Amino acid sequence: MRVAIVGAGIAGCHAAALLAREGLEVLLYDPMAPWEKPCGGGMTFRNFRDFPFLDDFRADCFPVTRMRMEAPDGASCVIPFPEPVHIASRRSLGMFLFQRAERAGTRLLRQRVIGVKPEGKGWRIETREGETEVDFLIGADGVNSLVRSRLSVRLPGKDSTLAVGYWIEGGMEEELVIAFQEGISGYLWIFPRKGHLSAGIGARVGEVSGRELFALLDRFLSRFDSSLMKKPRKAYGALIPTLTREGLKANRICGENWALIGDASGLVDPVTGEGIYYAFRSAGLCAEALRKGKIGAYEKICRKRIVPELRQAASYVRAFFDPRVSSRLVHLAGEKAGIRELLAKLIAGEQGYRSLKAELLKVFPSLYRDFLARMFQIE
Ligand SMILES: Cc1cc2nc3c(=O)[nH]c(=O)nc-3n(C[C@H](O)[C@H](O)[C@H](O)COP(=O)(O)OP(=O)(O)OC[C@H]3O[C@@H](n4cnc5c(N)ncnc54)[C@H](O)[C@@H]3O)c2cc1C
Repeated sequence: MRVAIVGAGIAGCHAAALLAREGLEVLLYDPMAPWEKPCGGGMTFRNFRDFPFLDDFRADCFPVTRMRMEAPDGASCVIPFPEPVHIASRRSLGMFLFQRAERAGTRLLRQRVIGVKPEGKGWRIETREGETEVDFLIGADGVNSLVRSRLSVRLPGKDSTLAVGYWIEGGMEEELVIAFQEGISGYLWIFPRKGHLSAGIGARVGEVSGRELFALLDRFLSRFDSSLMKKPRKAYGALIPTLTREGLKANRICGENWALIGDASGLVDPVTGEGIYYAFRSAGLCAEALRKGKIGAYEKICRKRIVPELRQAASYVRAFFDPRVSSRLVHLAGEKAGIRELLAKLIAGEQGYRSLKAELLKVFPSLYRDFLARMFQIE
């Protein structure tokens, strides 16, 4: 079987490696990869737990052992992680994954796909350099997926987060910073990496403009550490798919001879914007279904194993970023070790959303029931 994968990011390279290893002929299209894709590069513990081959990449990451969390009112607390969160440069992660796909026998075509058309039982893939026919098509082409725009429901604006930021030269402490800001359903971050750091801020599309986001970020960085704004830096802006409950329900991620994986599939944590883990997971599940000749099972398995968690997360977005809730959380985390542990597990990807309320109730005395009710109101 001949498979075209559009996009050699995380999802595309992982799917390519798995399929090529099974003996399928894999054509992987990308004009840019591996590249420094705009991203925090935060890789939670579960990436390394569920994808052991990433152990060989661990040494290329910057291990972070604690997080500073700041509330909209400026109060902050420090939360130690049970396991370090690893921060990767996307270029080096891309190179690692790309070489793995190539070793498995994938053929990389440094070409932008400009069209995909049905051809017999398969597809005709169009690039400026020519056309190729394949049996199966995988869209791994990120949030602005061309494949998705041709084959599935388009991602509506309200189902995306606009993120802007900087790569700033120089290092910093072994801590990452997360700060909640009033007026946006999103957060600001500073992630240290090897040799530089990635600082950024995200908000739901339509809430504020990119210019306003940069202004919020600049103001925060100047206050947090004024030397940061004097260092050489490069700006970036990008979208993150952060689907609502309705968006997740309407989402279509495969058909008879096509599938979407990674950001193109819309499977990203709508609260934290964590997409690296879901890119690996969706790519793995898609490759498994294709190997078994049952591609329809891919969407069913995602609906069973991934979507319920993401739908639960989507229902918390508004409440989670409500400044009354985020301020209370930071204050409580400063006071209570149980809350610090829970938040650390949530950020590190070890605490699921569906069991969050029960876990919070365990560490919260009954005094806080009103606060919990506000936090867990459904969108
Ligand atoms: C600012 C920002 C910060 C983030 N921080 C984090 C974080 O800290 N941790 C985390 O887990 N997630 C984070 N994410 C999300 C994460 O970056 C994505 O979820 C992840 O990169 C998805 O991987 P992917 O392979 O699906 O897509 P991508 O990594 O976007 O790769 C898609 C590839 O497709 C290629 N492509 C696109 N169109 C075409 C075409 N027509 N033809 C050929 N190739 C094409 C592109 O060149 C690209 O290489 C962040 C996202 C943003 C925007």
